[in-house]
Amino acid sequence: MELTEFTITQAHDGLKKKEFSAIELTEAYLDKIRQRDKEISAFLTMIDDLAVPQAKEVDEKISKGENLDILAGIPCAIKDNILVEDLKCTAGSKILENYIAPYDATVIQKLKEKGAVILGKTNLDEFAMGSSTENSAFGPTKNPYDLSRVPGGSSGGSAAAVAANLCIFALGSDTGGSIRQPASFCGVVGLKPTYGAVSRYGLIAFASSLDQIGPFAKNIEDCQIVFDTLKGKDPLDSTSVELNHKFYTLNLKSLRIGVPKEYFTKGIEPAVEKIIKAAIKKFEEAGAKIEEISLPHTEYALACYYIIATSEASANLARYDGIKYGYSEAKSEKRKAKNLLEVYLYSREEGFGAEVRRRIMLGTYALSAGYYEAYYLRAQKVRTKIRQDFERAFEKVDAIFTPVSPFPAFKIGEKIEDPLSMYLSDIYTISVNLAGLPAISLPCGKTENNLPIGLQIIGKYFEEDVILKIGRFFEDLNK
Ligand code: GLN
Repeated sequence: MELTEFTITQAHDGLKKKEFSAIELTEAYLDKIRQRDKEISAFLTMIDDLAVPQAKEVDEKISKGENLDILAGIPCAIKDNILVEDLKCTAGSKILENYIAPYDATVIQKLKEKGAVILGKTNLDEFAMGSSTENSAFGPTKNPYDLSRVPGGSSGGSAAAVAANLCIFALGSDTGGSIRQPASFCGVVGLKPTYGAVSRYGLIAFASSLDQIGPFAKNIEDCQIVFDTLKGKDPLDSTSVELNHKFYTLNLKSLRIGVPKEYFTKGIEPAVEKIIKAAIKKFEEAGAKIEEISLPHTEYALACYYIIATSEASANLARYDGIKYGYSEAKSEKRKAKNLLEVYLYSREEGFGAEVRRRIMLGTYALSAGYYEAYYLRAQKVRTKIRQDFERAFEKVDAIFTPVSPFPAFKIGEKIEDPLSMYLSDIYTISVNLAGLPAISLPCGKTENNLPIGLQIIGKYFEEDVILKIGRFFEDLNK
């Protein structure tokens, strides 16, 4: 087995037994990135000069016989909308092309404390808006399973990096599916935690009531290790909470799984439906109870999300004005802004890409006087209905199984000209964000073209441990 094929636990064992050093492990990944990332383009920034000293510190600890944290010396990659002190943080946007992060996000601080080795920053759709990573101002990332296809988005760089063994785990953010959908397209595990389970401090905001940071990993065990490191109350994020551990004696025979009928109607590709149904069948054969449930407001989720997410984005992105951060037309020879308003207008016009501008316009419109009640307020009411659908369903079941995406990874260029068809990629993931629930994407099969398909397991609030355990059952069933 090559060094770059290890999981977190395998690499940790190897480090402890001194089969290889943290520097050797890090160098192996850096080499692999140098070779393979030419064709995949998962990374926007590589930090060889910083990664090696991080690994060296871990080696020193090992040689002194100090206790080694499970993440010590483990190479990872970070989506480029999460701040790592002194590194560029572009959010995939020209407007932040030269922005240097002045501090660490709380999740980064936690990873650094444990000695994880950060290899670099990964590509994303601009400001995490998209489902294919094609909206990045720095070019698309390719799917390692088929280079003519997208890795999903918006955390496509992180998902592709884990899938192509360019790092052992990665961080992404999920506002409407941006961890689960690329995890599904790239055949890796991705977890979107409950809203509030992980601090958002230092995450470049897209839609603050929906955004969550979470891990990509090669298997459930690794995903749990990273989540356990990230989670918990942070005084710097007032929406974060401490997770009270309830210990679950969950077994397959007592497990009640809900399958929403609204997720298996028109639009789903037959190959995807077949693979998801086969996975559900496996649970049934192992003794789990499968129940059809209804989430009746599912059909409004997409419209509701695109009102709320764009409204919040229009407010969050107001700070990029050519004065406070990044790209500015104030000094540009090209346009010669004559006054402050023109600095704002030109900087935003030049700095933002088409999708971001489209969303700012949509959100500003939805929040404007006269339309606010008809759109934004309405959408908030629908959001409550969607949450209540889930609460009702969870009275009867322990977890809900659905597809992650109606189709496998699509071709680069296939949907980019048609925003609506791109938005449809998120049909199965956005309700979870609107309700604030936790969910994972778990690889559960491949199509005839060798494209991975993910099963979505949705849990009750703060029951990440339960859905991860259920994921573990599935891995065991497939051993
Ligand atoms: N694809 C969705 C969107 O474009 C979700 C993005 C995300 O989760 N960051 O808004």
